[in-house]
Amino acid sequence: MDLLSGLDDGQRAAVLAPSGPVCVLAGAGTGKTRTITHRIAHLVAAGAHPVSEILAVTFTTRAAGEMRMRLRSLGVAGVQARTFHSAALKQLRYFWPRSVGGALWPVLEHKMRLVAIAARRANAGTDSATLRDLASEIEWAKATLAGPGDYLAAVTKHRRETPLPAETVARVFAVYESVKQEAEQLDFDDLLLHTCAILEEDEAVAREFRSRYRCFVVDEYQDVTPLQQRTLDAWLGERDQLTVVGDANQTIYSFAGSSPTYLLGFDSRFPHATVVRLERDYRSTPQVVTLANRVIAGASGPAARHRLRLVAALPDGPAATFAEHPDEATEAASVARAASALIQGGMPASGIAVLYRINAQSEVYEEALTSEAVPYVVRGGERFFARPEVRQAISVLRGAAQRAHNADIDSEPDREPERESEREPEREPGGGTTPGGTAGRQRALVPTVRAVLATIGLSDEPPAPGALRDKWDSLLAIVTVAEELADADSAAGLTALVTELDQRAEAQHAPTVDGVTLASLHAAKGLEWDAVFLVGLTDGTLPIQHAETPEDIEEERRLLYVGVTRARSRLALSWALSRTAGGRRTRRRSRFLTGLAPDTATPRPRGGAPGRCRTCGGRLGTPAEIKIGRCARCPATADPELVEALRTWRKTRSAQDSVPAFVVFSDATLLAIAERRPTDDSALLAIPGIGRSKLDNYGPEVIGIVTRTR
Ligand code: ATP
Ligand code: MG
Repeated sequence: MDLLSGLDDGQRAAVLAPSGPVCVLAGAGTGKTRTITHRIAHLVAAGAHPVSEILAVTFTTRAAGEMRMRLRSLGVAGVQARTFHSAALKQLRYFWPRSVGGALWPVLEHKMRLVAIAARRANAGTDSATLRDLASEIEWAKATLAGPGDYLAAVTKHRRETPLPAETVARVFAVYESVKQEAEQLDFDDLLLHTCAILEEDEAVAREFRSRYRCFVVDEYQDVTPLQQRTLDAWLGERDQLTVVGDANQTIYSFAGSSPTYLLGFDSRFPHATVVRLERDYRSTPQVVTLANRVIAGASGPAARHRLRLVAALPDGPAATFAEHPDEATEAASVARAASALIQGGMPASGIAVLYRINAQSEVYEEALTSEAVPYVVRGGERFFARPEVRQAISVLRGAAQRAHNADIDSEPDREPERESEREPEREPGGGTTPGGTAGRQRALVPTVRAVLATIGLSDEPPAPGALRDKWDSLLAIVTVAEELADADSAAGLTALVTELDQRAEAQHAPTVDGVTLASLHAAKGLEWDAVFLVGLTDGTLPIQHAETPEDIEEERRLLYVGVTRARSRLALSWALSRTAGGRRTRRRSRFLTGLAPDTATPRPRGGAPGRCRTCGGRLGTPAEIKIGRCARCPATADPELVEALRTWRKTRSAQDSVPAFVVFSDATLLAIAERRPTDDSALLAIPGIGRSKLDNYGPEVIGIVTRTR
């Protein structure tokens, strides 16, 4: 496989750099994640590292799952791609018995119960909001490497505004730690803290670990915390085989202790590092890229110095749209209708996302999508692998895999190193797969899986909506995992599928079902969709109410930047003036939209004063500006649906009349119609380029389209 085709010069330089320190500093959509997967594949193919020596760390469990899939399709199976926490958990399970003794202490799924006990003992408030604040403070402290005794100093050093008096937090934190210790339990941050401690203090363990892992790759490095960095340092020891990629403009976890300083200071720490800057955005249309650049151009503070200007590599697409609604339900209904129209137009539902600032915003969208009969998945919703039918499915597949293995022990092609490695890391095979597979098996994977799952309810036809249908959908989602696996790795069989499902279950990585994604902006990081709806963009939600300091506000702006840059082509931004229907319209649209969105987001039907921009009122210069009635600086307000409807009509009409399309209307005129939405003859005539004969020829049809596309 040619690992270098499909890479630009900068990406290729990062991929080809010899095993050693490499840093890619680049904006959204420039191919950072693509670069690191290719780099891993290249290092393996070039013989620099066997698969078993590489540890790739990504930010979310979903990203880790995707990275494994992408690596498989590049011909590399078996690379450890994990989050920091999952990597540390795996390592601790192995080293803990030797270094600490006994089995690894259980890991707390939720710390709330212990925080509540600690808060009670420390005489702090115990209402749920206070407990949540306390839990976040404890997480922040641990992420910044501050124990209970250092918390006050850390707060002063970081000039942190604490939600409760710092002394109270420190007291609760101390009790929390001691209760947890007594109960012999670990929280998520302890996984990293103990990994560091063991590797830093136990030389034999460190030696063994470092002889096993010799190459580290970190995605989204701008959001690394001091605790994660310390873990990375403990993994590395004195070595420098570290590739990092990140974008300081996408730092969105500062509130949780992360910091882009490690990314920005990488070349000082490793002066001999290969540093690559990428600027071509391969994800998004110029319309999306321009808006993203404008969002981040407004940034201030230290990160603004690292502003990277994106250059669009893709052809033009529809203009971004802005819409103001009276209330949230109306906003959600409009988004659901637009999503439904896109799906009816042929876009897969999984190509669409609705992104919001806080998870609580999902509900109104769930309701609206349901009433439009649009399927959706809520990121961060019910955990897929916790569902009983999913557990049952994995167990029957495991049984089937075991039977196949026993029946044909020598021809099993897909044993993965993952599980053995937990017991015997030094004997992990390098190639990831054992040879001798039968070529016919992979093609049989999907039908085999279907046959196995048929025994527990996967019928050919979906049952009627209800609990049975939910179960059926879950089983079908497992078939989708099998399909993805078979696509990526033609040698995969049942054993590989069970391993993949186990890894995902451990990572809580629900497979994508074909639905519109509902997710928070935080959860959308690193991902991309054809169409993105950024909703609820009001002051108080983005920026969020509790963002008070200039630094907090800048982080909120970066969240908007992350949101905008998730869109490949269609991008719709919206907000509502009141929460409830008929409620007082007290909300204002997000301050970040000032200068980006028109002052009145609902396009005025007719132009403003002649020769003036209908958005900002400024004087119009070029003929194109005059035609559209809007200056080039102000964003387009054309509804992409309408533009497309007009384009389709123009094509049919020009074919009918046997004339080229531009003879009917030029692109500029078409856009002007879409922006101005004329609904009568005089409004149509007011558009430069439309005279009496065009009005007579096309007027009724155009007005008909404008009126229908509302
Ligand atoms: P983010 O900052 O959002 O994580 P990123 O820099 O990691 O973005 P990728 O996700 O790697 O970007 O790439 C964005 C999109 O562009 C992907 O669909 C990827 O396949 C595509 N892409 C990247 N590089 C190229 C290239 N050289 N040629 C064609 N497509 C590319
Ligand atoms: Mg990425």
